[in-house]
Amino acid sequence: MKLSSMKIHNRSRSAVLFEEAKNYFPGGVNSPVRAFKSVFGPPLFIKKGDGCRITDEDDNTYIDFCCSWGPLILGHNNDKIRELVIETVANGTSFGAPTKLGNALGKLILENHRYIEKMRFVSSGTEAVMSAIRLARGVTGKTKIVKFEGCYHGHVDALLVKAGSGLVTFGVSTSAGIPEVFAKETIVLPLNDPDLLEQTLQQYADDIACVIVEPVPANNGLLLQDRSFLMCLRLKCYKYGILLIFDEVISGFRVDFEGAAGYYDIQPDIITFGKIIGGGMPVGAYAANKEIMSHIAPDGPVYQAGTLSANPVAMAAGYAALTQLLEEGFYERLAEKTRQFVNRIQYYCDSKGYEVSIPQIGSIFWIAFSKERIISAAQIDPASMEKFKVLHRELLLRGVYLGPSGYEVGFISSAHTDADLEQAAQIMCEAMDVVF
Ligand SMILES: *Cc1c(COP(=O)(O)O)cnc(C)c1O
Repeated sequence: MKLSSMKIHNRSRSAVLFEEAKNYFPGGVNSPVRAFKSVFGPPLFIKKGDGCRITDEDDNTYIDFCCSWGPLILGHNNDKIRELVIETVANGTSFGAPTKLGNALGKLILENHRYIEKMRFVSSGTEAVMSAIRLARGVTGKTKIVKFEGCYHGHVDALLVKAGSGLVTFGVSTSAGIPEVFAKETIVLPLNDPDLLEQTLQQYADDIACVIVEPVPANNGLLLQDRSFLMCLRLKCYKYGILLIFDEVISGFRVDFEGAAGYYDIQPDIITFGKIIGGGMPVGAYAANKEIMSHIAPDGPVYQAGTLSANPVAMAAGYAALTQLLEEGFYERLAEKTRQFVNRIQYYCDSKGYEVSIPQIGSIFWIAFSKERIISAAQIDPASMEKFKVLHRELLLRGVYLGPSGYEVGFISSAHTDADLEQAAQIMCEAMDVVF
């Protein structure tokens, strides 16, 4: 394959801005992975985005597969979102009172999602998960929670934990500042191990309030589970009187309008949302059936509130985004485009004998430097991240932007045209030639 003509070498303005930012923010950033710690070079400072492309402060343009880490399923600067946001913002940004737009978005979601009956808006995915855990504890009167190794649920104290040693393991916190007693309330299990799951739930049934899982684990590679494992989880939670939380902050409105619940046709007890639900604005939500949601204040005793929750500007962005996702065939078209893009790169890597596999679901993909089917966190070889580092550098040079970590997935938006994807696939193949 022919090398693409232009290479991007000048990132001097981003470099200067990053040096400045280090005076203001820890590590120069407001969210850690943005600091490019595990890839080459300073982070790009982005000044605008349009369609599938972003432009940095040095005026370099990139085809973007990070898409703000998932929210931008319609690409950057979507016309309908922009117009409704501008129209709404002209009347003020927040009132701390109910608005018609909040009703409109709530109605749109609940009428088109068969797995939930009532919801509460919050302002981030983390807040949604934190509130869902409190709700599960409030409803069951139990304390412990179960999570899976390789799933991320935001920076909630009880969930920033990894497995300790031993088989059934109580959590060990992965961050300073989390009291040991909090981490101990969390049990961490490997994905895809039904026997250990049964043993654990049986043993601690009287203490476990909920099991939380990313039904499409997409924060530590893309660890696609068999439906049978998710179904097993569902049935065991029923059996032991434990609530099942699907954390659909990434998969919600991404793999289907009804998220993974709809994709796999499995009914969880509580679902958490974030990312896409806000159309690029800070929105999260948690939802369940009417009975469970009746435990939330002011109807019930579980307290949860938010000054900027459901502010009209955020609701406008979410409403304008989600109406477009309901158009006939939206998800099928996006998945098909993604499949073709992934297949093109996979075919090339196979023909060259490169050890690469690219798991995909809907418009999510992940580049794994392995031929094995990876379904649990322990299977990922940390040494393979060195290859990702080179890939990331070569892609940036050629005008393709991936999230700056090999554990992160890529996202395709409806704004990525077939031509854009063909160009990006060719660049990916060229970059692979440098990696191997
Ligand atoms: C991104 C994410 C979160 C956290 O959402 P924030 O809006 O970053 O707080 C929680 N759970 C999952 C599955 C996520 O992907």
